[in-house]
Amino acid sequence: MLRDEEPSLISFETKEIPVPPDVIRQPSPPPVLAEVQDLIPAMPPQVSEAEHKIDVSSPDDLVCSKSPLQLHISTTLMENFMKMAKRNTDKNLETCGVLAGSLKNRKFYVTALIIPKQESTSDSCQTTNEEEIFEVQDKRSLFPLGWIHTHPTQSCFMSSIDVHTHYSYQIMLPEAVAIVMAPRDSSRNHGIFRLTNPGGLSVIRQCQQRGFHPHDPPPDGGPIYKACTDVYMNPNLKFDVIDLR
Ligand SMILES: [Zn+2]
Ligand SMILES: [Zn+2]
Repeated sequence: MLRDEEPSLISFETKEIPVPPDVIRQPSPPPVLAEVQDLIPAMPPQVSEAEHKIDVSSPDDLVCSKSPLQLHISTTLMENFMKMAKRNTDKNLETCGVLAGSLKNRKFYVTALIIPKQESTSDSCQTTNEEEIFEVQDKRSLFPLGWIHTHPTQSCFMSSIDVHTHYSYQIMLPEAVAIVMAPRDSSRNHGIFRLTNPGGLSVIRQCQQRGFHPHDPPPDGGPIYKACTDVYMNPNLKFDVIDLR
């Protein structure tokens, strides 16, 4: 279990992403930070309509990563996903979905939950038609912002397969998150995770193994992944559900 690990300072490179011309106003009332397990950052939710970057000057502000841009997720996305997963969950089968969205005012918003065609077991979930996912994202000009999947009977953690899956998302976009829904885990039924940078990313980059396998801890002794505390749960954010199954 990694939930008791000490936070460490991790930094992503700040990068400039051009703002599209059709910027929208920040929703009001302001979104709130995701519920976190261990540590709550000193950073208040953004209330200004002006364009801001997260202040990354203090190492105490963010625990999971120094991602340059905010990521907003609808407060109802997780329960919505659990409803769509229910039939699988009842049969002890995993379900996975892709989080896609847009960049507006230098903030990422998850505006689509894509449920791809998939094959699953009690401890794995594999998409079977990647092309279709790319097509949906292309057509709607959406960024892949991460993924969500269930652990029907297991606890809330990232398996070795999960961290490899997430690696591909996170190297495309440092802000990408992995959400794990674990309805039977009484200590926490969901988690929003990223690989640590550079520790976790370097371990997975160098790992050639597939299937379930152990990972050595990163050279700095820290964990491979951590719960994010800089993701905003936004009550005003609308999202589409695109079920391709
Ligand atoms: Zn998993
Ligand atoms: Zn590995």
